[in-house]
Amino acid sequence: MDFKQATAQEAEDWMETIGEKPYRARQVRSWVFTKGVSDFAQMTDLSKSFRETIAHKAIVTQIKEVKRDVSVDGTIKFLFGLDDGNTIESVYMPGADRVTLCISTQVGCKLNCKFCLTGKNGFMRNLSSAEIVDQLIQVKNRVPGGRVTNIVLMGMGEPLDNYDATVKALRIFTEPDLNLIGGRKITLSTAGVAPAIVRLADDFSKVKLAISLNAPTNEKRNQIMPINKKYPIETLMAALKKWPLPHGRRITFEYVMLGGFNDSDADAAELGKITRLVPSKINLIPYNPCPGLPFERPSTERVEKFRSALIKNHHTVTVRESRGGDILASCGQLRQAVKEAPSSTP
Ligand code: SF4
Repeated sequence: MDFKQATAQEAEDWMETIGEKPYRARQVRSWVFTKGVSDFAQMTDLSKSFRETIAHKAIVTQIKEVKRDVSVDGTIKFLFGLDDGNTIESVYMPGADRVTLCISTQVGCKLNCKFCLTGKNGFMRNLSSAEIVDQLIQVKNRVPGGRVTNIVLMGMGEPLDNYDATVKALRIFTEPDLNLIGGRKITLSTAGVAPAIVRLADDFSKVKLAISLNAPTNEKRNQIMPINKKYPIETLMAALKKWPLPHGRRITFEYVMLGGFNDSDADAAELGKITRLVPSKINLIPYNPCPGLPFERPSTERVEKFRSALIKNHHTVTVRESRGGDILASCGQLRQAVKEAPSSTP
């Protein structure tokens, strides 16, 4: 039994199996999730004998900080160590009206998107729901006021390729009694695992959905995102049409602009056509060049022209600069840097 990955109901049921009252589960979970305590011995308002009993029968997963980099813009990139020696990244991004945490769902990624360092470095394993949830708990323990208002599942890994653990983590994040984060404050970003999008629509459609699109045609998307060969744009769009959108809500299409590859006027026109198929907005992300990857950042003028072309056709478009450009904040960069320079620990 791991308290970090048990829902309220599961924790209560477990208490009964060891002959304890269900309300005990609430007490322990308050220490684990609200106070961020993982050691039963430190749960000082519980009787010593009860603490000793559960310490013999249960655990509380805790990831450990290995390194952190702090950017001039306030972004903090955390590298966390897991029990098996693997590492994952979580990025804390404070803003004027919201504080967003970007979390990982896998160690590495199988999807091998050509512009992504995590993809290039391959896949190690899925994270457990406890390891996903604990990124929020550990970061809240370490940042001013413990304040995180939004979560984006856009870190290392494809969340829908680790479906069960991701959905379990979403359920725990949004349990009313824990008050950690609201469902509408969570954005799940996927490269387009079409059948899993349809499944998620039934299981947990409270989250906001973002699609990492990055190319407007199958021909171009196949070149940079191998998943498109399995689930081409038509299949992806058919799945998105099944996503329940309350009035006024939209799906976000993330579009990493790769200089000279997907940033032409013709690309803008194609992008406009396909994103019109569902209520949507477009988030343009000028690429942050990454050592070892063959793509360039488009010029500021090109980004502006691309944006204007979409706006002229009545699309809602934002341009998002990557945060923490001075601290290797692009996905997979900190992990890679630590691997290459193992002596650079805190
Ligand atoms: S961009 Fe996302 S889905 Fe693609 S390889 Fe990187 S982590 Fe995986």
